[in-house]
Amino acid sequence: MKRKKLVIIGSGPAGYTAAIYAARACLEPVLFEGFYSGLPGGQLMSTTDVENYPGFPEAVTGPEMMKMFKKQALKFGTHCLLEDVKLVDLKQRPFLVEGMKTSFHADSIIISTGATAKRLDIPGTHDDELWQKGVSACAVCDGALPIFRDKDLYVVGGGDSAMEEALFLTKYAKKVHIVHRRGEFRASKIMAERVLKHHKIEVLWDSTVDSVSGKDYVEHVTILNLKTEAKTKRHAGGLFFAVGHVPNVQFLNGQLPLTPNGYLMVKPGTTETEIPGVFAAGDVQDFVYRQAITAAGTGCMAALEAERYLASIGLDE
Ligand code: NDP
Repeated sequence: MKRKKLVIIGSGPAGYTAAIYAARACLEPVLFEGFYSGLPGGQLMSTTDVENYPGFPEAVTGPEMMKMFKKQALKFGTHCLLEDVKLVDLKQRPFLVEGMKTSFHADSIIISTGATAKRLDIPGTHDDELWQKGVSACAVCDGALPIFRDKDLYVVGGGDSAMEEALFLTKYAKKVHIVHRRGEFRASKIMAERVLKHHKIEVLWDSTVDSVSGKDYVEHVTILNLKTEAKTKRHAGGLFFAVGHVPNVQFLNGQLPLTPNGYLMVKPGTTETEIPGVFAAGDVQDFVYRQAITAAGTGCMAALEAERYLASIGLDE
């Protein structure tokens, strides 16, 4: 099995940025981009225009941006693998990183596996029910499908993702209805204003989705008004969850401490985990900022910290 100075697990802005810095520092990094567990490139692959990444005044799409990040990582010699990591062993040194097809011994590891969109436990939305038959957790990935055309579409959530998904769906839907459990959005003001002004979007405040029904595809949603407790069955062609994310830490099998809400714990102001030589960058360790720019920033920090760590154990040559 090959021994590597640095293995980066997970693509996306954090992983690719770590790779760019590490490759330029001649650490010859290997980057597991993922495959089945989620799109290589991470959550930006299912985003439309990114308007707030400095340097792109005209906006850039998430996939275009990730293509450029990857190109830059490759340019400096990163070895990218389109594979998921199944397991790591952090008790042995060098560490073991086992991919679906390729495995390595690694002197240092950067974990940048990001987070995955959450689903709610609503009757009718489960895997053996209408999941992927009108129920989705990614409007940008699925919204253009013919089943959603000219239908009433429902988006659950009140954050920036819900705003973005609702605005995106207006291109295809007859009408978009946002179902939010409170009376105000947590989304940024600019996004919330765009939504509230849009003639094709209705907001159902203080409401949740009680159930979803339909024969082969979604046909109805039942909305529960939390204030009046009234239930209303409405025609629907689709339901999209935009209720936040869970960090992708399953493959670690509890070998690193987590925060109470399940994110990887790092020493404040660094990307260092509890195990020297193992670093965490991007959304897998960040439940506060969760932006492409902050993910890229922590990716850079992780690479610099890995480089220093390797030097401290005499492996920088
Ligand atoms: P958020 O955590 O910001 O929002 C999740 C939303 O889902 C909240 O409104 C929350 O309600 C609601 N929710 C959570 N659990 C439930 C539940 N059980 N039932 C009903 N509703 C629920 O996640 P986002 O994915 O929207 O955003 C994550 C981060 O990514 C943020 O920092 C955001 O700014 C950023 N982002 C930026 C974008 C951009 O700039 N273009 C686009 C998308 C995301 P409540 O408000 O009541 O807690």
